[in-house]
Amino acid sequence: MQHLVVIKGDSDVDVTLKCERCGKNFNHNIHVTYCTSFAPIKKRSIFKFNSA
Ligand SMILES: [Zn+2]
Repeated sequence: MQHLVVIKGDSDVDVTLKCERCGKNFNHNIHVTYCTSFAPIKKRSIFKFNSA
């Protein structure tokens, strides 16, 4: 039996948000599912990491 290889990710993130009105904190769950393939990054990194 062959293995089927699927490249995908699954992110389950709990964030704490603050209500602008009453100032209470509440939790919000962000569930992101993505599917990707391996591709070389051609662009220079958008995010500048501290290289000092
Ligand atoms: Zn509120």
